[in-house]
Amino acid sequence: MCCRNVHVNFTSVEEKRDCYKKMEIVLKLDVKTMIGVLICGNLVLAFLTLRYYLYNESDHEKNLIRRFGIAKILQAIAWLFLFFRGNISDIFSIYFGNILLFISFYLDSLIVLHLNKKPEKIWFILQTILLAIAIILFVVFELIFDSGNIRVGIASLGIFCIFVIPNLLSIANKLSTRFEKFISFISLVFLLLLLMRALNSLFDSNVSLFTNNFFQIGTFLALVLLMLVNGTGFLLVIYDRSYELLRASSNLDPLTRIYNRRFFMNKAESHYQRALKDQSSLTFLFLDIDFFKKVNDTYGHLFGDEVLKVVAKVLSENIRPVDLCCRYGGEEFLIYLHETNKEEAISVANRIREKIQNLVFADNQEYKCTISVGIYSAQPDSTKNLQFFIDNADQALYMAKEAGRNCVVSL
Ligand code: GH3
Ligand code: MG
Ligand code: MG
Repeated sequence: MCCRNVHVNFTSVEEKRDCYKKMEIVLKLDVKTMIGVLICGNLVLAFLTLRYYLYNESDHEKNLIRRFGIAKILQAIAWLFLFFRGNISDIFSIYFGNILLFISFYLDSLIVLHLNKKPEKIWFILQTILLAIAIILFVVFELIFDSGNIRVGIASLGIFCIFVIPNLLSIANKLSTRFEKFISFISLVFLLLLLMRALNSLFDSNVSLFTNNFFQIGTFLALVLLMLVNGTGFLLVIYDRSYELLRASSNLDPLTRIYNRRFFMNKAESHYQRALKDQSSLTFLFLDIDFFKKVNDTYGHLFGDEVLKVVAKVLSENIRPVDLCCRYGGEEFLIYLHETNKEEAISVANRIREKIQNLVFADNQEYKCTISVGIYSAQPDSTKNLQFFIDNADQALYMAKEAGRNCVVSL
């Protein structure tokens, strides 16, 4: 039901009055008040993002938050100019106001693209082209027609075109979370109303910015809703991402970026319990770099760190996703091999040992790195525990060291 239909279809004055009465609840809100709400709301959002900006440590996230804050401030200024239409120079209230609005929605659209996992560059270029077209068309139409309804129509169409593609992409993207899709869905509802507003005002010369008709009020209501959902949604998405990043990095060793001992032990414990229940065997490899103290003493601690990183990379690249590998401490690593018997474990250990022995380090080509490996493979029972397995693998490692290093010993 809409006011256009009211004009076209209703013949009797009573029916018209009846229709207006039904819509009175919505029409009682007025555009200017809602523009006031948009100014305050955007400023509050910009202020809230400042807190996130100050406490966030990732450069990429900081960049996103800064853009979001700028978009909100620009939008607040744009609405402020539009709010004072008629009281300030048209240059500000018409040109600056609408162009700033385009730019703020453009920045918002880039943020939606960035939040899309693996966005392609072409979409960013397209958005910039759309922004340029929207600004040029707005200025040209304004100079030619200088008419309220055309202005509202072109401004609405411009925002529609700038904002629609990134939100469609976000909904179509398999990697988007449900929450991100929900935010984009709300944006699309707003865009649909905006499109209807554009068409309505283009064909109705009585419409201008402050006209209180169904499309105008509907669009502004949706805009307030969008500001709330989009704003809080963005902050929540950023919060989720920071939390996820923190959670993931708390499981990793800071130097080698493989799992740390705490995380490994938690995971290994659940494998142990499952093996105990299934009466299947468990295999652990204890690895230690040979004469590593001498590496530090001879080539320096920094080179020692480099060796640790490269060795960790070789280990993680030579196990399967179902296996586990961690830096147990210093230059010692622990590996859990899933459903692997002793013979297979020996062959995996020897393959890794040979790969490490053949490494050539860019910073020091004369250095040959070797490791010793201890293996313990057995079936868990009620008399043993996880630590028993690790201690035995350590015992096997000790024997490998005793046997002259750069070798594999299995208990
Ligand atoms: P072995 O063949 O018997 O294992 O001899 P090793 O010298 O490797 O054994 P030792 O346990 O005596 O030395 C381990 C060295 O590892 C001592 C320590 O300075 C070094 N280390 C431990 N953590 C780090 C680290 O994060 N970075 C560097 N560069 N060195 C480390
Ligand atoms: Mg060592
Ligand atoms: Mg050691």
